[in-house]
Amino acid sequence: MRFDLPRQRFYFAGYELGISEFSILFFTLLFLLFVIVAVALIYGRIYCGYLCPQTIFSEAAQWWEARVTRFVKMRWAGSAASVLTTRERIISLAGVFVASVFLAFIFISYFVEPGDLFQRLISLDVQTTGGVAGLVVTLFTFLDFAFVRQTFCTTVCPYGYLQGMLVDKNSLLVHYRDEHHSCIECKKCVRVCPMEIDIRDSPKQMECVHCGECIDACGEVLGRLGRPTLIHYAWGETGAVMGNKSEKWYQRMGFRDTKRVALLFVLLFYFTGLMTALSMRHTVLVQFRADRGQHLYKIDEHGLVVNTYKAKMSNRGAEPSGVSFRIEGLPGAVIEPAGAVLVDAGAVVEQDVQVLMAPGSRQDVTHVKITARAMPGRSEIAFATTFLSPPAAGKGTGK
Ligand code: SF4
Ligand code: SF4
Repeated sequence: MRFDLPRQRFYFAGYELGISEFSILFFTLLFLLFVIVAVALIYGRIYCGYLCPQTIFSEAAQWWEARVTRFVKMRWAGSAASVLTTRERIISLAGVFVASVFLAFIFISYFVEPGDLFQRLISLDVQTTGGVAGLVVTLFTFLDFAFVRQTFCTTVCPYGYLQGMLVDKNSLLVHYRDEHHSCIECKKCVRVCPMEIDIRDSPKQMECVHCGECIDACGEVLGRLGRPTLIHYAWGETGAVMGNKSEKWYQRMGFRDTKRVALLFVLLFYFTGLMTALSMRHTVLVQFRADRGQHLYKIDEHGLVVNTYKAKMSNRGAEPSGVSFRIEGLPGAVIEPAGAVLVDAGAVVEQDVQVLMAPGSRQDVTHVKITARAMPGRSEIAFATTFLSPPAAGKGTGK
């Protein structure tokens, strides 16, 4: 999914859409909103722990810092502690800065075409909007991953607050259970926690991002004593431990009450709406109407009856398109232009379309179907309209 603001395009699941294609945008945004709500309600902060870029890159920055510290201590062994610290900071911050430029580029590419953005980057453009945006995002990214890191999750992150509001008695939690007092107080679960909390205090600590590091740490320590971990993913404070085979499959997936089933139906509704809107979309949108402004019909110099129609073609794709017309319901009629009308990518073309027919015993009003076919892709849009002829006596002027 990507917005291209300069070109007013919106890319979703391989489709290129105009910003104005409201129904698709509407269903996309509503569907994504309910996905966020459903994931937060059912699986708690699992997104924070496993998918959130803030968590992933904060942990990556910590990993990088630890590697740099080790490298500097080995490379300059014997140097004064202050010298080592300075070198560690310089190398570590330089690495985070390079990563920040890269991440800022990826982020702004969601809004500006990547080739264009790359040109601005290599020319160190800080004058255009895209260039200034790149500089500001790079700076914020650098400060974030160099200094703020997981503090962001517990102070300003809106998703963390949203999750706090949505959680209920069946939401997934990281839960410490020690009915038999098996904890050996090794505190490894505390040491590995990236949020620096003790999960044994409460499963509802706002800082917990459900990363599961403490679960693995406890399992590893107690495993050496032949005991199972005391920390688990569990469905609420009193609910079953996740993965309990004695439960039904839908309970194991987190659908444990009617609220969650209702949410699933809401999601299906918006997903169906989105798929329907996408399937009905035409890359080249054609609007078509009969032109009855000055004449209902005309008689040309060859004595043919001529009806004029107005076609407006908007090409919302990335390739040029040829639009051709055909008529059904009027045998012997000729339609002009006979060939395809070229519509460049992103262009809007207005074209007069004429249907010519020899006068005869035909009725005054004939209901016809005119079909516009866009190539490549062969998508067709049909229009029901009328072809008007002189009255039976042949005296009409069409005015
Ligand atoms: S308490 Fe456990 S699951 Fe929660 S953030 Fe710390 S390590 Fe991750
Ligand atoms: S890792 Fe397990 S055994 Fe060690 S302090 Fe934490 S809960 Fe207790």
